Parts: sequence; structure tokens; C-alpha cells
Amino acid sequence: MIDLRSDTVTRPSAAMLDAMMAAETGDDVYRDDPTVYALEVEAARLSGKAAALFFPTGTQANLVALLCHCQRGDEYIVGQQAHNYKYEAGGAAVLGSIQPQPILHAADGSLPLADVAAAIKPDDFHFARTRLLSLENTHHGKVLPLSYLEQAWTFTRERKLALHIDGARIFNAVVEQNVELEAIARYCDTLTICLSKGLGTPIGSLLCGDEAYIEQARRWRKMTGGGMRQSGILAAAGLYALKHNVARLKDDHDNAAWLGEQLSAIGVEVINQHTNMLFVKVPTEKVEALKSWMQSGDVLISVGPVTRIVTHLDVSRQDLQRLVAHWQAFLQQ
Ligand SMILES: *Cc1c(COP(=O)(O)O)cnc(C)c1O
Repeated sequence: MIDLRSDTVTRPSAAMLDAMMAAETGDDVYRDDPTVYALEVEAARLSGKAAALFFPTGTQANLVALLCHCQRGDEYIVGQQAHNYKYEAGGAAVLGSIQPQPILHAADGSLPLADVAAAIKPDDFHFARTRLLSLENTHHGKVLPLSYLEQAWTFTRERKLALHIDGARIFNAVVEQNVELEAIARYCDTLTICLSKGLGTPIGSLLCGDEAYIEQARRWRKMTGGGMRQSGILAAAGLYALKHNVARLKDDHDNAAWLGEQLSAIGVEVINQHTNMLFVKVPTEKVEALKSWMQSGDVLISVGPVTRIVTHLDVSRQDLQRLVAHWQAFLQQ
């Protein structure tokens, strides 16, 4: 089976499972799980922030990030297609009484600062209080340029907004830009990182920020049910991933680029490809037929008029060769 629906489908490798089996654990709610502590220290070091906190999911880490930055009646400015606006069940509004102010992304995945400026509410009791700008990096595989992040950072300082980066796939940006995480994270107050996508762990996300912020986040994490006990088993997978699975993300990017070229060569319309994501067009009348064709060839892929294909550490170049041949056979029938 080839699974290209997402990079969340990656399974822990034998070596990762060994690291998990060997993990020293404690009770992390009592703050005495040494492996969770080690992971949080490592995340803080890599991001250049003072502290970090381990979460079961990225959704919860983003929710807690928003709950820390915004009070009831505050708002955050966010992309119309951002995960922490569109794909997190409205958690900030439901649980935090925080109003989202979505705006359109530019073609490169950024939020134009002129549009952000226009969305900031005046300090007047008619309006929600604008507190935060939330960016996503990478967004649909697109890496936000460092020059943009620097401008966004300066802008938010001037306008007294906090800046959060949903960096679920931030290490794809790190690898693509060939920089250290700190070179990106210096342009935000807080950062979330998913360990369970291209980094290949079964579970886990991190929220990085300053000490006071992370202490506040610890309370919200407990309140939202994310205080875990012998979670060192999971943190061990995270430590393993940060050590062994970052540099290899380059292979996923190369594979996505290669697949884009191959599909294009057999007549598939490629929309774009960035880092580990490839988007292609499928004629509407062919969608159902292609879906069953892929199923019959043991390929899991979310076929639609715009089909997203995601490469990851459990997909090899040979798998992709098989996919191209299978797709070509579909086109030739
Ligand atoms: C996957 C993802 C998250 C978090 O997802 P979980 O499945 O809750 O871990 C957050 N933001 C973005 C951009 C993501 O892709």
C-alpha cells in the first residue's frame, strides 16, 4: 500500500520504537518525567526560545497558544485557509471566546501586511481587541520567505501584536531554506511544531515560547486535558525524530519535485509543488474513476478536482515509480 494522503500517516520505525522502549519515564504532570523534560529542553534550544511544552496534538498546542495570547473578546488575525482557523473545529471561538479575523493568503502563503494592517480594529468598545497575528509555515507546502517574516516581526512590534507561527511543518522550511530553526523562530513570539508529520513520530507536538508564557500554557494544557503522565515514551520518539528525521526531509522534497515532473510528462496537469506537497488537477468527470483506479492499485490518495499528494518517510522513489506507471495506465485505458 502506498499512502500519499498526508505525512501524518507515517509509522514509527523499528529504531524509533527501540528508543521508545528504552525511555526513562516519570509522571509529567508532577514534572518528573526526564524524557519529556529532555525533549522540551531540546525544543527550546533548537527554537532559541526559553521554554517549550509537549502536547499530544498540534491542534491542542495551537489552541493553547491562542488561549494564552488572547482573552475573551480578543481576536487573532489568521489566514482564511490556515489550519488554526479552518481545521481545528473552531476551538478558539468555542473554548476561548476568541474571535478569528481571517484574511486571504497571498499566492506565496503569506498574509500581506497591508491587509493585516487593514484588519486591525481601532481601540474602541465597538470592536474586539486585536491581539495576535498567526502565520502558518509551511502553508500548503510553501515556505514563508525569511524577509517576509522579518517584516511581519517588525510590523507586529510596531502595532503591539503578538506573533504566533503554526509551524506544524516548520522543519520542512528549515531544510528547504537550509537554516537553523532559530533563524526562523527569532521572528515569532511563539511557535508550534508537529512531531507526528514528516518527522515520523506516532504522537506529539511542541509549543515554544518564553518562560512565563509556557507556564501559562501548562495550566491551559491541563485544563484542556493534555496533561499526560508517563509520556516519556512518546517524548523519546520525538527526541529520536529531531535527531534522525530532520535532514532526510530533503528526500521528501526531492521526491515531490520528481513526482511532479513525471506526472506532468505523462499529461497530468500540475498546479504546484513546494517542499513535500504536490497539487495536481483532475478533470471533474474523471475524479470518481481515478479514485477507484487508485484503490484497485493499492494507492491511498485523496483524489479530487484538486488532488493533494504528500510525500514522507514511508514513501520511496520506487513507490512513486509504481504510482506513475499506475496513473499512466489509467490515462491510456
Ligand atoms: C497537522 C497540522 C496541525 C495539527 O494537527 P494535529 O493533527 O492536531 O496534530 C496544525 N497546523 C497545521 C498547519 C497542520 O498541518
